Amino acid sequence: MVNGWQYGQGARLGCLEQSMTGAPTPAAGIADPQGIALYHAHIYYDPASTRHQAAALREQLAMAFPDARLGNWHDQPVGPHTQAMYQVVFQPERLAAILPWLMLNRQGLAVLIHPETGNDYADHLRHAAWLGAVLAIKAEVLSGAR
Ligand SMILES: [Zn+2]
Repeated sequence: MVNGWQYGQGARLGCLEQSMTGAPTPAAGIADPQGIALYHAHIYYDPASTRHQAAALREQLAMAFPDARLGNWHDQPVGPHTQAMYQVVFQPERLAAILPWLMLNRQGLAVLIHPETGNDYADHLRHAAWLGAVLAIKAEVLSGAR
């Protein structure tokens, strides 16, 4: 427990410094999640073998989350995506409901969930969460700071 004690001392010193210099300011480089306008979930499938799972999932999603916007089917990869998929767009406050629902009901399909912060590159590569397989993303077609 010696290490724990030392860590505790350090944390206490940090608090002391803060109280002496006034109100804490956000550390440089810390992004505020309030800047997330929307979320996308991309549901990937193989047109030859898992399209029916994707269709069932789509129907169940539409019933469970009528406020989520379902995008077109893309049997051919589009944009930064390297597999067939459709997208689901939803408001930030719905993440806490939709994420666990997808965890339990994704039918073995790979799902990419990413925020919309205005930086496409970061949103798809640095800020993304994957369920199931992690697929390749074409970074070269994405705009935004690298
Ligand atoms: Zn997207």
